[in-house]
Amino acid sequence: MTDTTRIAIPNKGRLSDPSVDLLRKAGLVFETSSRALSVPARNMPVEVLFVRADDIPELVHDNVAQFGITGLDLVTEAGVETRVVMELGFGRCRLTAAVDESSPITSIEEFEGLRVATSHPVTVCDFFTDKGIDVTTVALKGSVEVAPKLDIADAIVDLVSSGSTMMINGLRPVATVLESQAALISRPDADPSPITTMVRAVVAAKRKRYVLMNAPADAIGAIEQIIPGAEAPTIVPLTHDGMYSVASVVDADEMWKVLPELEEAGASAILVLPIQQMIP
Ligand code: AMP
Repeated sequence: MTDTTRIAIPNKGRLSDPSVDLLRKAGLVFETSSRALSVPARNMPVEVLFVRADDIPELVHDNVAQFGITGLDLVTEAGVETRVVMELGFGRCRLTAAVDESSPITSIEEFEGLRVATSHPVTVCDFFTDKGIDVTTVALKGSVEVAPKLDIADAIVDLVSSGSTMMINGLRPVATVLESQAALISRPDADPSPITTMVRAVVAAKRKRYVLMNAPADAIGAIEQIIPGAEAPTIVPLTHDGMYSVASVVDADEMWKVLPELEEAGASAILVLPIQQMIP
């Protein structure tokens, strides 16, 4: 093996742009304009490999790439042993079992004997076998949701995020087969790598904001209650009398609640800043 670490990411589809974005935020500098299969990073001994999302588990398993970013659904479907280093918080979806809205079926047990169309035949077969339910899987690469209308299947198992595509196609969800999101994967026995630390720092930072404000001395107690931060907030006296600069890290999801409370407590000149990377 060379000293260069290869990381495989999807070359198209909905995981492609967020994967490029994640690696850039992690500090890798690389081109995407040439549409080459493999692109060297300019600032690290790393090569970015652009390949199909469903090939990535196999490529990582075979050590063609030491790391990969792909959907957990595709990792399960590939059936090869890899390590999920971390979930990345994008590409969230569910593999959902559904029937035509006119069907009387309401439970997964009633799938017994049905033809089930899916783009994930291995996962679906394992799911029904585990439950002792006998189905015939019909493997399709795309347009799974039209299979019942074409009478090539009685039910489907397909990926959904909002569920609106299923509704538009007159399908009713019955059960969730698998929850998925994008993940960083490696070989099970991979050595620790700076890539893992860099990516983890971006993922941790995405859900956080750095909040900076000015406050009079008598407001500090209340502000500390509102933003305890990872530890205590940083409090630095300003040059003018009795004023302090207060800084803390706050959950991005909490900002809607925290900002009015800070203002109410007497904070002013409140700044909310994104955090690029964070190692807790
Ligand atoms: P794509 O290449 O765009 O067809 O999608 C590849 C991967 O994106 C899937 O295997 C999932 O991991 C993920 N994904 C996230 N949301 C959805 C969705 N609503 N439908 C299909 N795939 C999704």
